[in-house]
Amino acid sequence: APAARAARLTKVYGSGDTTVTALREIDLAFPRGRFTAIMGPSGSGKSTLMHCLAGLDTVTRGRVFIGNVDLSRLSDKQLTRLRRDRIGFIFQQFNLLPTLTAAENITLPLSIAGRSPDRAWMRTVIDAVGLAPRLKHRPSELSGGQQQRVACARALVTRPEIIFADEPTGNLDSRSGAEVLSFLRDSVSELGQTIVMVTHDATAASYSDEVIFLADGRLVDAIANPTAEEVL
Ligand code: ADP
Ligand code: ADP
Repeated sequence: APAARAARLTKVYGSGDTTVTALREIDLAFPRGRFTAIMGPSGSGKSTLMHCLAGLDTVTRGRVFIGNVDLSRLSDKQLTRLRRDRIGFIFQQFNLLPTLTAAENITLPLSIAGRSPDRAWMRTVIDAVGLAPRLKHRPSELSGGQQQRVACARALVTRPEIIFADEPTGNLDSRSGAEVLSFLRDSVSELGQTIVMVTHDATAASYSDEVIFLADGRLVDAIANPTAEEVL
């Protein structure tokens, strides 16, 4: 099975005569080991799609699968556990805990899940993200790019089936953004990670294997191995 899949996914917000149809019968699969970028104008449904795929929002019609699991068949408790164990998240605002060190932030998902760190995997992730000299620093002592790389390591540490990244370079200068994107690219190419990233930025999208375009809640285009010029 692909890492994630949407089947005739429709999302309607509101009720009565004040409804907004954010997604209209989206059919889409995210194969394992692929880096997919989602683009489209503001209000086209990017955030809603990501939230539905990640089980953060309920769907109105259709289905969402993570691996073979149909999210509509899960209880709230099972859904929370699936998100914790099988999905990684990267946010525009980093969302690190300010009182914890970089190392503690990275291992937090394992602590929450009651899992012990796999030392070899920890080493691989920390080396890949280039953070070894900064592990004892708190977020306030790190640059934005370093903070986002801590967040990337945190997303990878549980070896999730899929990582959802919401505008991961939206708060970074272009050089720090490039470091984060290179890391995401390498985690797909070298570690086989599956990543779905929402972005407004053509350069960011050019790091992906495929960019898909939404407009008015519909899938309107897709480009494989995009260059920044093709995306613009
Ligand atoms: P994008 O991420 O592409 O900017 P969104 O998924 O945020 O688009 O929004 C898609 C549409 O759904 C927009 O018309 C937006 O106003 C609407 N929408 C999003 N979230 C809600 C909500 N919680 N309640 C009502 N309408 C919403
Ligand atoms: P972005 O443009 O970065 O995708 P948005 O500003 O569209 O973000 O949405 C930010 C948050 O506000 C989302 O969680 C979305 O669900 C919510 N939201 C967006 N539009 C509406 C709306 N019309 N009514 C209520 N909530 C909304």
